[in-house]
Amino acid sequence: MKKTIKDYNLKNKKVIIRCDLNVPIENGVITDDTRITESLETIKYALRKKAKVIILSHLGRIKEESDKKDNSLKIVSKRLEELLEQPVKFIPFTRGKEVEDAINNMNIKDVVMLENTRFEDVNNESESKNNEELAKYWASLGEIYINDAFGTAHRSHTSNVGIASILPSGVGFLIQKEIEEINEALNNPKRPLVILLGGLKVADKLGVIENAVKVADTLLIGGGMSYTFFKSFGYDVGLSVVDDASIDFCKRVYEENKNKIKLPSDMIVGKSISEDTDSRLTTPDRVDKNEMGLDIGTKTINDYKKILMEAKTIIWNGPVGVFELNKFSQGTRKMTETLSNSKAKIIIGGGDTAAAVNKFGFNNRNAHISTGGGASLEMLEGKELPGIKCISDKWKSLKRI
Ligand code: ADP
Ligand code: MG
Repeated sequence: MKKTIKDYNLKNKKVIIRCDLNVPIENGVITDDTRITESLETIKYALRKKAKVIILSHLGRIKEESDKKDNSLKIVSKRLEELLEQPVKFIPFTRGKEVEDAINNMNIKDVVMLENTRFEDVNNESESKNNEELAKYWASLGEIYINDAFGTAHRSHTSNVGIASILPSGVGFLIQKEIEEINEALNNPKRPLVILLGGLKVADKLGVIENAVKVADTLLIGGGMSYTFFKSFGYDVGLSVVDDASIDFCKRVYEENKNKIKLPSDMIVGKSISEDTDSRLTTPDRVDKNEMGLDIGTKTINDYKKILMEAKTIIWNGPVGVFELNKFSQGTRKMTETLSNSKAKIIIGGGDTAAAVNKFGFNNRNAHISTGGGASLEMLEGKELPGIKCISDKWKSLKRI
């Protein structure tokens, strides 16, 4: 068990909170502030407990000096100020006198936000490579470190692993919820546990498949990853996406878990990925050379729906078709609808899957939509994330002899 923000007395303490405020910005305007609103709970809690709050976050990717211009957190600090209804002092630096002065002058319940942690990446990738000197410097600015950035928890960076290795640390409410929900579904689920896996490439999800067959009662496969399985059966799948390097993997996993793995029995094929291509319903063994699989078919939708309706826990990662195009969105739309009506405990992970369910009006109070694409995938692989592993453990009582 990891310590949480609640395990510390925050009063009058300089508390560094690592948030994930990596919001989309177009032409200087934040187009979706979800990540800021989701960070509020932890920040507000620290303020209620009379902490001095120092906020760190990354924004975008910084490779060279010129990337800095469009990736300043200043605009984010302004939005945070509105949402918190109190001033947020933005310091346009990641280190130096201005930073130190601002922090030394803080009163309780003040908020200071430093510039984008990845600005340090122009100095030999100091942030992304967990640089020791930078870790010591950032740690010296605070007394307690709280990690609430789930989106980067699968990375070993200075602003998470580096600082947490030095200061007393805990997780914020966002990360706490993510790990509780995902771990519960994977390790202690109400059964049957059904995992629905789709997406583009098998290669990205070998670890997830490997873990899924271990923990799930049924693994439903859809989307682009189906065709590598079909190819491993010797079918000609035409122009469908196939990952040749994973054919042997698919063959073995399927052989070993035939009773658990379900593959589409029918599919929609097209000649190209576009709205105006000719499309038709066929079976996986009857795809023409100039066709590609772009969605699951009606029989598969109904079969999967039945299995999902009987599940008590459902984990979904990966759209089952090219949901971005109306023509090939039916499968993903129907899976979303099925999960909306389900009474099961539901976990939805993956950036595109979250985007898909939001697009199709998903609404279910029993569902947890994970905020971290890569991080949730690594959890589904059964891995412990570095950004969580580094957090102080709760004191465990000694076993009675
Ligand atoms: P997530 O981000 O949720 O983990 P992925 O990134 O693995 O999901 O996959 C999402 C992408 O997979 C979507 O852009 C979707 O269009 C694509 N996709 C799904 N099915 C197919 C298919 N049959 N052929 C090509 N692309 C597909
Ligand atoms: Mg994706």
